[in-house]
Amino acid sequence: MPAVQTKTDLAFQQCVMPACGATYDVSEERTSCETCGSLLDIVYDWDRLPVPSSLKDFEAKWSRRNEPLERSGVWRFRELLPFAPDDQIVTIGEGQTPLHPSVGVADFIGMKPGRLLLQYEGMNPSGSFKDNGMTAAFTHARMIGAKRAACASTGNTSASLALYCGMSQLMQAVIFIGSGKISYGKLSQALDYGALTVQIAGDFDDAMHRVRQVSKRLGIYLVNSVNPFRLEGQKTIMLRVLESLNWEIPDWIVVPGGNLGNSSSFGKAFHELKKLGLIDRVPRLAIINAAGANTLNALYNERGVRWNGGAPDTKSIDSYYAELDAGALRADTIASAIEINRPVNLMKCLRALECCDGVVRDVTDQQILDAKARVAANGLGCEPASAASVAGAKLLREQGVIDPDERVVCILTGHQLKDPTATVAYHSSDQNEFNRVLGSRGVTTAAFANRAVQVENDLDAIVRTIQLNS
Ligand SMILES: *Cc1c(COP(=O)(O)O)cnc(C)c1O
Ligand SMILES: [Zn+2]
Repeated sequence: MPAVQTKTDLAFQQCVMPACGATYDVSEERTSCETCGSLLDIVYDWDRLPVPSSLKDFEAKWSRRNEPLERSGVWRFRELLPFAPDDQIVTIGEGQTPLHPSVGVADFIGMKPGRLLLQYEGMNPSGSFKDNGMTAAFTHARMIGAKRAACASTGNTSASLALYCGMSQLMQAVIFIGSGKISYGKLSQALDYGALTVQIAGDFDDAMHRVRQVSKRLGIYLVNSVNPFRLEGQKTIMLRVLESLNWEIPDWIVVPGGNLGNSSSFGKAFHELKKLGLIDRVPRLAIINAAGANTLNALYNERGVRWNGGAPDTKSIDSYYAELDAGALRADTIASAIEINRPVNLMKCLRALECCDGVVRDVTDQQILDAKARVAANGLGCEPASAASVAGAKLLREQGVIDPDERVVCILTGHQLKDPTATVAYHSSDQNEFNRVLGSRGVTTAAFANRAVQVENDLDAIVRTIQLNS
């Protein structure tokens, strides 16, 4: 490895388990603690770092948005993720994402108008929130001189990595995908951006297992969400939400849960902001699993597993996984981005749930697709996994956990065009097509379908049809 310029003394890596607490230099590439095998955090010596005195200070950067680092929705907050020298940062303009109030979706959920907001991360350069984290991990990979970067992916991580590699020309992307599980929108991105794409016979959990082995054996930089630097970039999603709310704290953040990187990073963001005195309270966090991939929900709600100040009940967790193995139970949901049974960031996520007084729910594919159709009919197309947040908010509203006049932010994690197959099947008037794609998922109805109208190729017939339907 070449000599690296780091701020070693100001930023370092640390084991998340308080009982261990081992620390590592920021210039090391690590995805777990050498001592105990747990996840790592990026930790900062805030006392010696130039932290803004108020979040409002960030607004001064708006006037300098001709500079790439100030334009980036991630790096203009770099004082809050200060692990990289400015001249090492790789940015492609990620994080220009809006927070939209939606009266129509508020109504669908049962909220008062103006109280439901959608953070549209599908507007990122590769079409999902993953770019927020990839810019940070990619920057770290560059800092330590990596020439190849790898990930296992249900699709969006690989699309993002492939894009950063293509745009920067600094590294080769090596991506691992399971067979038959990746949507065409995402696969097309990896192939088109020129990534070396390795499709293995297995699902995401299998691909994840292999990519860890291969990257170790070949010395390839690993950018999966076990990579602690990715979570640093993802913290900025919350900073942008607060910024859009004029630095007011919403009551709820609702986010889909797959590998649990996003939820973990949100918890870390709020924990740090509170500790730095930049906010005075934290919002509550709601993490939404798909019912067909609901490990977090099972552990949190059925087995009562909690972070417990850093001493979670690992026996319960291990026995749950043993049951999955014994029953050969595989994750199964139309929401492919969260079709994950062994979430790698589980520990960090439990910690985030404790920090943010969190709740966990799971929603069916039927609920997800209905919510997705309502979101899109109100102008913000998203992929199925994203709509889990809205379906989850609706469920929590129905259960009375969320009040109709609380302020709720749902994260829309990925763009509508990522997975057109599910969308077209939902709206299809062809029952065979509907059943082929959705039937095996327990989806039986399409209450919000917008069906194409079939009409013969005849002017009068077309005119009559339009008059009848408008
Ligand atoms: C990766 C992804 C998720 C899951 O996020 P985690 O951080 O793994 O929990 C949800 N939605 C979309 C669109 C994704 O790409
Ligand atoms: Zn440790």
